[in-house]
Amino acid sequence: MKKVVKFGGSSLANAEQFQKVGDIIRSDESRRYVVPSAPGKRFDEDIKVTDMLYGCYDAASKGEDITEKINAIKARYYEIIKGLGLSLSLEEEFKKIDEDFRAQAGIQYAASRGEFLNGKIMAAYLGYDFVDSAKMVKFDEKGRFMEELTDKAIKKELKNHERAVIPGFYGSKTDGAIKTFSRGGSDITGALVARAVQADVYENWTDVSGFLMADPRIVDNPKPISTVSYKELRELSYMGASVLHEDAIYPARVANIPINIRNTNRPDDPGTIITSEPAKLEEGQIIAGIAGSKDFTVIAMYKNLMSSERGFIRKMTGILEDFDIPIEHIPSGVDTLSVVIDNKLIDGKIDDILEEFERQLKPDHLEVFHNIALIAIVGYGMSYRTGVSAKLFTALADENINVRMIDQGSSEMNIIVGVENKDFENAIRAIYNAFVC
Ligand code: ASP
Repeated sequence: MKKVVKFGGSSLANAEQFQKVGDIIRSDESRRYVVPSAPGKRFDEDIKVTDMLYGCYDAASKGEDITEKINAIKARYYEIIKGLGLSLSLEEEFKKIDEDFRAQAGIQYAASRGEFLNGKIMAAYLGYDFVDSAKMVKFDEKGRFMEELTDKAIKKELKNHERAVIPGFYGSKTDGAIKTFSRGGSDITGALVARAVQADVYENWTDVSGFLMADPRIVDNPKPISTVSYKELRELSYMGASVLHEDAIYPARVANIPINIRNTNRPDDPGTIITSEPAKLEEGQIIAGIAGSKDFTVIAMYKNLMSSERGFIRKMTGILEDFDIPIEHIPSGVDTLSVVIDNKLIDGKIDDILEEFERQLKPDHLEVFHNIALIAIVGYGMSYRTGVSAKLFTALADENINVRMIDQGSSEMNIIVGVENKDFENAIRAIYNAFVC
């Protein structure tokens, strides 16, 4: 059994959190490869070390004196080192960082030092080898990630290390310059390591016990999702549930490695497991989760004999393509067609789009509905099961919620309903209560 464990910034914000992490790792000897983030916030108004580094580098590039800023960063690390009772010195590392900042070594290099230094501490604390990601995570000269080369490099290097700490978030370009992933990118490093070492599981430790079946700001105490497939998760995240970055899921998904989201502060909680196969349902379970977003616009068209006209949809999508607008959904009837678009993306363009629709499509009737919210009900448990829509629409009708649009994916693992923005929260609660409670 081999596990790759990634710890987020809040799990490593101070010595106390480090100790929890140490206990977690030591309690299971298969946790052999550890990917740390930089220290995150210790309290609400605190600043993440990554942000301190960005700020410090910014000051250095304006020629300002950075002594104080460097010292503040140093203090964060020494607070951890002292709190853990380690005798580790980072003086050499800080000397180099100070010089490199003053020599303007690059903003991405600056940001990466957060993970680099935390990795040094973690390796010393655990007695694991420290393996610099710059050696293994590769980008080309234009900064594009090189997937295969990285996979090979990690495989080759980690063969020599029974247990290792690999800092998250960064790698290096062909010329040796440090390059980071986008913010939150340690998740990606963890997944890359998991794939390369063919881990049995990729544990992603954070400050929540996995995903919830609905947004807790809308539903009181929603149940946790114990297992969810990558596809279901994709549907949920597309509709606004906040989950892992798609780039972080990809390497684990192609290698068929389950991802387990766990809570460092509640290590006994099982968290959520993300698998490639549809999850086994619990007794009575139909859906995996509910997610949604507000603020969509629906443009609805009616044209007599539309169904026999050739190229109607092509022309309609062509117009939107010319305006560079992605389409969310196209619900249709015999002679009706609607198109659902994110409000933010058509702001200021709607009149021109309608004019083009009129000119090229010549509909008999064209109507625009603003302020539509979309809600996705997701789960393989719905497929080939009768009565799911009846239950859904009864729940909405009982709350007097008018459904403006319905769209069901062909795999029957998601149903999307459009309601007015004002009904959004009520609709989610009604659906949750009908399917989950
Ligand atoms: N430390 C980086 C950030 O704050 C990367 C990470 O935590 O994953 O975005």
